[in-house]
Amino acid sequence: MRENHLHRIFQDSSPRLKGVSGPGDDCAVLIPPAGRKLLQTVDQVIGGVHVELDAEPQLYAQKLLRRTISDLAAAGATPWAASWTIATPPQWSAARVRALAKAFLASAAEFKMAVAGGDCSQASVPVLTCTALGLANGRIPGRAGAKPGDVVLVSGKLGGAVRSGRHLCPEPRLAMGKALVEDYSPHAMMDLSDGLASDLPRILTASDCGADLDLEHLPLHAELPPERAGWESAVGEGEDYELLIVCSGRSAKRALQDCRFRGIGLTAVGRITDLGKLRWLHRGKVKRLKSRGWDYHWGSET
Ligand SMILES: [Mg+2]
Repeated sequence: MRENHLHRIFQDSSPRLKGVSGPGDDCAVLIPPAGRKLLQTVDQVIGGVHVELDAEPQLYAQKLLRRTISDLAAAGATPWAASWTIATPPQWSAARVRALAKAFLASAAEFKMAVAGGDCSQASVPVLTCTALGLANGRIPGRAGAKPGDVVLVSGKLGGAVRSGRHLCPEPRLAMGKALVEDYSPHAMMDLSDGLASDLPRILTASDCGADLDLEHLPLHAELPPERAGWESAVGEGEDYELLIVCSGRSAKRALQDCRFRGIGLTAVGRITDLGKLRWLHRGKVKRLKSRGWDYHWGSET
């Protein structure tokens, strides 16, 4: 019954895009434009883990789509199509499931994405997944290209995303990611979902190098306290969905003067080293931070 219902919503409201057959058959048929690279990523939102269990269905849907395409932003890709799965608790009414589906379609339309298909089922807590496809040209930065001497930059401001509620409607840095890839050839790039203390080591491990980060240069959200508590929040809390960029000193210098990035902000926060470890510095002196990165914890006592 639910399936039929959702099927109708998708049939009626899915934006049709050239090259995407859309829902209705066992498989969607996708024909990417000639010469473009097709990028794929998957993410999830689980009630009680990534959003509060009783959050409105619109919040589930919007966070799901936006956090998924934040990965496309980190590759400089343009969102193209999405498919998704939902498992909702039996006590969710048909109207609530319908609101969820409509919100997902609205979010996809906001980013001009086709919804190619999906599946629905039941579970004790809401479990949603989204697979997003993006299109890109040229070289896609991964995590393995950082080199000693490179500059580490972040977009926007960091910290406090969960307490402030910003995590419910992250802003994927799509235009900025695309501009950075096209004009500044980053050696490595990723989005900050788990906090600098967790995410930067992923680049360092993949690239087999270290980094020195300057705490006094971290761009903190205005509501955060200055100094230690603010730094801990900025490096240890997740869900910022800002870009973490590693590029040559020359590219960094030019990018920092690019007026397209002024609104969101772009900040140099450190450099890549050959020391093999991540060090947090304050005015040149090594500091110990407690932060180990973000652990999703709603609904759990631990
Ligand atoms: Mg990511």
